[in-house]
Amino acid sequence: MKFGALCHSYSRFETLSGNALRSALADFLKTVPTVDIKAVVYMTLGAIASDYDEINLGMADKMAIKAIALAAGKDEAKVSKEYKKKGDVGLVAESVCGTADGTLSVFDVFETLHLIATTSGTGSQEEKIRHFSGLLKKATPIEARYIGRLAVGKLRLGVAAKTVLDGLSLAYGIGKEKIEHAFNICPDIGIIAETVVGKGDDGISSIGVVVGRPVQMMLCQRVESLQEAIDKLGIPVAAEQKYDGERVQIHKDRKKVTLYSRRLENITSQFPELVKAASTNLNAASCIIEAEIMAVGKKGQLEPFQKLMSRRRKHGIEQMAKEIPAKAFCFELLYLNGKSLIKESYNTRYENLSSILRPNTSINLAQRVVCTDAKCIDALFKRVVGKCGEGVVIKSLRPDSDYQAGVRGWHWIKWKPEYSKGMQDTFDLAVIGAFRGRGRRSGRYGALLCAVYNKKTGKFESFCKLGSGFSDAELKSLSKKLTKSDSQPKNVVVLKQMTPDVWIQPTKVVEVLAAEITRSPFHAAGMKDGKGLALRFPRFLRWRDDKKAEQATTTKEISR
Ligand code: ATP
Repeated sequence: MKFGALCHSYSRFETLSGNALRSALADFLKTVPTVDIKAVVYMTLGAIASDYDEINLGMADKMAIKAIALAAGKDEAKVSKEYKKKGDVGLVAESVCGTADGTLSVFDVFETLHLIATTSGTGSQEEKIRHFSGLLKKATPIEARYIGRLAVGKLRLGVAAKTVLDGLSLAYGIGKEKIEHAFNICPDIGIIAETVVGKGDDGISSIGVVVGRPVQMMLCQRVESLQEAIDKLGIPVAAEQKYDGERVQIHKDRKKVTLYSRRLENITSQFPELVKAASTNLNAASCIIEAEIMAVGKKGQLEPFQKLMSRRRKHGIEQMAKEIPAKAFCFELLYLNGKSLIKESYNTRYENLSSILRPNTSINLAQRVVCTDAKCIDALFKRVVGKCGEGVVIKSLRPDSDYQAGVRGWHWIKWKPEYSKGMQDTFDLAVIGAFRGRGRRSGRYGALLCAVYNKKTGKFESFCKLGSGFSDAELKSLSKKLTKSDSQPKNVVVLKQMTPDVWIQPTKVVEVLAAEITRSPFHAAGMKDGKGLALRFPRFLRWRDDKKAEQATTTKEISR
C-alpha cells in the first residue's frame, strides 16, 4: 500500500470526530491489505508496535529539526526558526521537504521508523538523523508532515485503540463486544487487526492467552455494604487482603520471566528479586500469575505505596532492591503449563496456584479466608485495616467465576474503610487541563482540571477542578510532570465555562478524595438535561503512575 494513501486518510481523520471518524476509519480499513494492516493500525495510533513491546518513537524535536534541515539542504537555524513559528515538526517538514513523487510504501516508512527507534549506542544520534532525513528525501509534502509527526511521537489524530476496534467491527461486520473481548485477552492492536482482516470472525473467536503477551487485568466492583457483596456473589466467597501496592502480571516461560504492570509496561528490570523468586519458587514450566507487589520494611512490615514507587528508576536497581526489598502477594493463575485457565472457576485457578507456589521472602500467596457470612469478611477486614492495610477484595467462588480480562465485573468486589464509613471515596482521574495560580501560587499551576473516562465514546469528560491537597513541592513540579497541548485534545470534552488556561495531554492519572458527586452546570461528565456530574470538595491524594489515562474512573462508574 502507498504511504500517500494513508496520509490522505489521516488528513481527513483530523477533521472528524465521533461516529463520522469511526465510519471514515472503517471505510479506510476495508481498503488496507492484510500485509499492511498491522503497520497501518500501529501508525494510526502514533506508534510502531504494541504498547507493551516498548519500541518507542519519540525522537527529540531538536534532533528532528536537524534531520529536516539535512533532508531539505537548508540551514538548521532557519528551519529551527520556522519550527518556533509553527510549533509542529510535521508542518515544518511539509513546508521545507517533500520534493519526491510519492513512491513510498507503508512498509518503507514503517521499517525505517523501526530502524530509527531501535538504533542505539555510540553514534546512534547521527544514525537516526541519517535514516530520518533519508526517509524525508523520498517523501511528498503531505507524507513529510506525517512522517515528521510520527518520528517525534506526536501524530495525535484523535484515534484511540477503541476507535480502531470500532472501525474494524464496522468494516468487517464482527460484533464490537467480541473484538473488545479479544483485545482484552490480547492487547495488541496489530495482532487483532491482522486476525480480523486475515481470519475474520473465527480467528477473533480463537484468540487466546499466550505466555509473554500480557492480558488486560480484571478489576473490582464496589458495594455499599458487606451484605450486598454476599447477595451479589452468593456463598461461600473468598475474602482476601487488598494490598496497596502495584499490580503485576508475572509471565514465566521456562527460564524467561517477564513482569508487566497494570499499564502493561514491561517492568521486569525493576524487580530482580521477583524475577528470581518466579524462576525458583514457581513449580511450573510455564505460567502466568498475578500479584500485588509490596515494599517490605526491615522488620518484615508492609510499607506504603509511595515507598514502592521510589523503586521506579532506571539506575541503581540492585542497590534499591537491597534497601527497599519487594514481595509479591499472589492471587491469580491465568495459565499453567501450556493451558489457559481463564475460563476455569476461581477455585480451580487458586488450587493450582497454591500447588505451584513455594513461599519465600519475595513471594507468597495473598492472605485469604473462605467465608460464608459478612461477619467473617468483616473480621479479616478489621485485621487488615488494623495493620494499616487498604481493605479486602471479596471474590466469587461460583463455578462460573472465570477470569474476566479487562472487565470491572461482579466476580470481584472491593471493600475499603471509606466505604464502610459511607463518607468519602477516592477517584482516579485523568488530568486534562491546568489553571494558572494566583497570589501565593502565581507563576505556577494553581489547580488542575480532571476528568473521568467515557469508555463508550473514548473521551475524557471534565469532572472536577482540583486545587487542594497539594504540597508546595507537588505544586512546583506540576508543570514538569504534565505535558501541555497547544489546543484542546480531540479526546477531551469540557464545557466552555470550564475552559482551562492550559490544555494538558490526558496521560497522567491523579487519585482524588472527595465528599460526594453532584449535578453541575460546569462539568461534562455524564451529561443529562444540560447538567453534568461533578465532584464536591476534591483533594489531591497521590499520583497513580501505575495507571494509564484510559484506566481512570469511568463515566459509567460515577453515574451509578
Ligand atoms: P484501587 O485504587 O481501589 O486499588 P483500582 O482501580 O486501582 O482501585 P480495582 O480493580 O478497583 O483497582 O481494585 C483492585 C486492585 O487492588 C487491583 O487492581 C490490585 O492492584 C489490588 N489488589 C490488592 N490485593 C488484591 C487481591 N488480593 N486481589 C485482587 N486485587 C488486589
